[in-house]
Amino acid sequence: MSAQVRKRIVIVGLGAVGALAAWRLSQRDDVEVIGIEQYGKVHDRGSYAGESRVFRTAYHEGGRYVPMLQESRRLWRELEQQSGRELYLEVGALSIAQPDRVEMRTTLETVREFDLPHTLYDTEELRRAHPQHNVHDGDVGVLDHHGGGIRPEVSLMAALDLAEAAGAQLHFHTPVLAIEEEPGGVVVRTPTEAIRADTVVLASGSWSTRLDGRLRDLLRLQVLGLTWFMPTDIAPFLPERFPAFLRDVGPVHFFGAPSLDGYSIKASSNPTWPVARDVDEVPREYTRHELAKIGQQAKEFFPSLNPEPVRSSVHHCAYTPDRTPIVDVSESERVVTVTGLSGHGFKFAPVLGEWAARLATRPSDAGIDPHFSLAAHLDRLATVGAYRGGGH
Ligand SMILES: Cc1cc2nc3c(=O)[nH]c(=O)nc-3n(C[C@H](O)[C@H](O)[C@H](O)COP(=O)(O)OP(=O)(O)OC[C@H]3O[C@@H](n4cnc5c(N)ncnc54)[C@H](O)[C@@H]3O)c2cc1C
Repeated sequence: MSAQVRKRIVIVGLGAVGALAAWRLSQRDDVEVIGIEQYGKVHDRGSYAGESRVFRTAYHEGGRYVPMLQESRRLWRELEQQSGRELYLEVGALSIAQPDRVEMRTTLETVREFDLPHTLYDTEELRRAHPQHNVHDGDVGVLDHHGGGIRPEVSLMAALDLAEAAGAQLHFHTPVLAIEEEPGGVVVRTPTEAIRADTVVLASGSWSTRLDGRLRDLLRLQVLGLTWFMPTDIAPFLPERFPAFLRDVGPVHFFGAPSLDGYSIKASSNPTWPVARDVDEVPREYTRHELAKIGQQAKEFFPSLNPEPVRSSVHHCAYTPDRTPIVDVSESERVVTVTGLSGHGFKFAPVLGEWAARLATRPSDAGIDPHFSLAAHLDRLATVGAYRGGGH
């Protein structure tokens, strides 16, 4: 196909969704891919930042996601293989809770419904198999064998490098100021240029409300923090002996990953900050009081951890009312929107990137579940109202 008839697709935002969409689109020879990112290549301000993301297929958020997660697992492996980088550590994901807890019940439902490879533990088995954890009386565990940790920064670099090598033009340090539809196309305005496109993929995460007014009522920003602690002995917390974990006790959701730096583990608590409307309202760091509280929780769940965090960071993520991501194409088929990943979307970013690519190239037969559409989201907004916080 000649260069003149290639469809020009501009991706706005090269974070989790944008980078993976750039990779998927750059594999097609009938499109010209342009990516625009307000900061540098793989920066520290995106919702993806923070060394690791938990990957799970046994999914308490619901069975709807399991086929997406299985396909994502395949795509993470494909990205690893194409890039030659280690992105996905399949060390397992261990969920611990009381058996009647809703997260445990729904996780086990997906295990049974999709026949997922797993190990179940009663309290004593859990204590023997995973002695790093302070297991409470009555706790049970389920180890998702296809779970583990993904390295987000390395994954984005891999996807962006491959996209560039395949001919994508990526522009960094270039904020998009506006996206305007006009007859026959879309104009993407930056401080120095007006770039014409056939289709735009809006993948601007927490900043999306600044570019699309329709999202202002729908999205809220949840502030989310990460903390790392040092154990007395790192050996039991290295990837070969320590799965990623999720722990639910009362109002506390604790989650984390094995040591990737060789001296500390990520062990973080669910957010207690109020929701925000704009990235500028998000605090840049924890207070000492907040860190001391998480340190006490870390010590309670892992007795061998020193309760002083050696590292911490504060982030944000765009949440929809029921934490379902938005995947939509406008009536004109010119603007594809993928945002609102609601604190759990990194793991299936490759599938969302592929869906964005399909919607941008062949919207009529993209085959995306209408549950993710903007119209369905607006219906749910009318029923349940905007996200109010408390999720993780
Ligand atoms: C602390 C924390 C922990 C999490 N843990 C997990 C986990 O364990 N497992 C999991 O699956 N998910 C997890 N998530 C969720 C997941 O990381 C996010 O949902 C995901 O990264 C969001 O991807 P995104 O592409 O929508 O946004 P981002 O990754 O933030 O990307 C948006 C990009 O768009 C750029 N941009 C925005 N506006 C403009 C503009 N006007 N012009 C140009 N560029 C622009 C931004 O700079 C950014 O690079 C977590 C999130 C957080 C914050």
